[in-house]
Amino acid sequence: MNNHLSNISRRCFIRSLALSAAGVALRPRHACAADVDPDRIALVSDTHIAADLDKIVRQIWKMADNFKSVTGEICALEPRPAAVVVNGDIALQDGQPGDYRSVAGLLEPFRAAKLPLCFTLGNHDNREEFCKALPALVPKDNPVEGKLVRVIELKRANLFLLDSLDPMPGTPGGKLGEAQLKWLASALDARAKKPAIVLAHHNLQWAPDAKGRYSGLADTAALWGMLRERKQVKAYVHGHSHVWKTEPRDEMHIIGLPATAYNFKKEELVGWMDAKLKDDGIALTQRALDPAHPKHGQTTALTWLR
Ligand SMILES: [Zn+2]
Repeated sequence: MNNHLSNISRRCFIRSLALSAAGVALRPRHACAADVDPDRIALVSDTHIAADLDKIVRQIWKMADNFKSVTGEICALEPRPAAVVVNGDIALQDGQPGDYRSVAGLLEPFRAAKLPLCFTLGNHDNREEFCKALPALVPKDNPVEGKLVRVIELKRANLFLLDSLDPMPGTPGGKLGEAQLKWLASALDARAKKPAIVLAHHNLQWAPDAKGRYSGLADTAALWGMLRERKQVKAYVHGHSHVWKTEPRDEMHIIGLPATAYNFKKEELVGWMDAKLKDDGIALTQRALDPAHPKHGQTTALTWLR
């Protein structure tokens, strides 16, 4: 523990003693910075919140209730996560102002718990409406014009949050674009010594489908070539497919996050991931909304492959 943290711990401890002596009930969860686990990340994706909080899709999924459950679980974590990432498709269908107003209300527990929260955007989002409704969540000094990107520097890894929202009429695909790729290359080069985890909403897609379309990331080849050259990059994390999955490729891990909103196949996990960085990898504990789901509580430990 460094001096800064140990000073905080000491102050917290002394304050706890004083408050206990005074008979004041403590809320240790939110009391002290020392309660934060610098290696813990809550990974959420595809929340699909509608303006109407009672909106149900696929007959059974009430997305706002799902997000409330996940929010409650994350806010109750002890120790607290160093970062909470929501990896795109925040809004129901096309990023209406009312969708983001609902999101703003649902985020209140995160704000009250002062958890560090950040978002990427997906194909069902609208950048302008997101920025209008949630200005506090827009990265400051955004380095790529027209995109929302940021780097989160954690103790054991740097997270690079990308923006793959690039509306292509009639397709659910996404694109990073040359300017963002150029920025990412320089941001990675400036942080070559620590493991890097790259996150964007869209899954990778190396070639168009039979109709020449992309439902995943249209500039996958350009991105992947650049990541492959940089040995510090250990993993690419996406949402979009609503399927929890990991696979290795070129000595990197590709990690697909489960959706919080709903699944497309009933056996797929709906929930979030409680991630923990290690010196040589990451452990992903699956948190299903349905505690009876066979994968709920299981941990997948990934070791960095280079
Ligand atoms: Zn989605």
